Amino acid sequence: MFLVGAGPGDPELLTMKAAQLLRQADAVLYDRLISAEVLRLVRPGSLLECVGKAPGGRGWTQPQIHQELIALAYRFHTVVRLKGGDPFVFGRGGEEAWALHQAGVPVEIVPGLSSALSAPTVAGVPVTHRGISASVLVVDGHNPDRLEWPMLSGTKATLVFLMAVGTITTIAERLAIFGKPGNTPVAILERTSTAHERVIKTTLAQISQVINVQHIENPAVIVIGETVGVLPSVAELRQGKLSEAVRCR
Ligand code: SAH
Repeated sequence: MFLVGAGPGDPELLTMKAAQLLRQADAVLYDRLISAEVLRLVRPGSLLECVGKAPGGRGWTQPQIHQELIALAYRFHTVVRLKGGDPFVFGRGGEEAWALHQAGVPVEIVPGLSSALSAPTVAGVPVTHRGISASVLVVDGHNPDRLEWPMLSGTKATLVFLMAVGTITTIAERLAIFGKPGNTPVAILERTSTAHERVIKTTLAQISQVINVQHIENPAVIVIGETVGVLPSVAELRQGKLSEAVRCR
């Protein structure tokens, strides 16, 4: 059994190992966020099964997923459990690896590019920058009551929130209450590395309104911190001034 990270969406951002396993697999069990482009790499004729859960919605329970994985391990030679991003970053990959190990199923884990770090990079948002931020905190935003707000508000670390679209109003309020300045730059990175990607830059004070007005939907990564303001947009970065300079000569 291979527990494989699929990266943020663009099939070119898969590891070579992941792409090769998808071409070999007899069965692939995948999550809801896996892109259609990535699934197209799966060998025709192999079993493809979605075990996705919508946020807060009904779907497969974790024990059901474990049972299905174990059953597939008995039925097929090469089984891939494909998870968005990296299997060990908010992916419940640890639980699945443990359940498989307990059941005696050999497991190999293949890392993927986590959206936590790859979405900012794809969007031209550095998460560290010399002299501005020397650390990054990757935070699960879906249950704000569990988070340490004085620490999150006071730190100079760049904050990278996942699963935070539905809770962003509370997150912004708590950060403000504990002293994070309202003008702290924020980047909303929606469906990064897919055809529908959007990058919206705003401030902490404005973020809640922006998310509503722009109808931001899951999945999105929200980056909060001074590094957000360091670079121009990726479109500007791509353009450069070189062509103009060459024309002038
Ligand atoms: N294991 C995954 C994270 C799973 S939690 C990883 O390493 O990326 C699901 C959250 O990931 C979403 O709520 C969203 O915050 C983020 N996410 C996943 N894919 C994304 C994408 N293409 N663009 C922006 N955010 C994404």
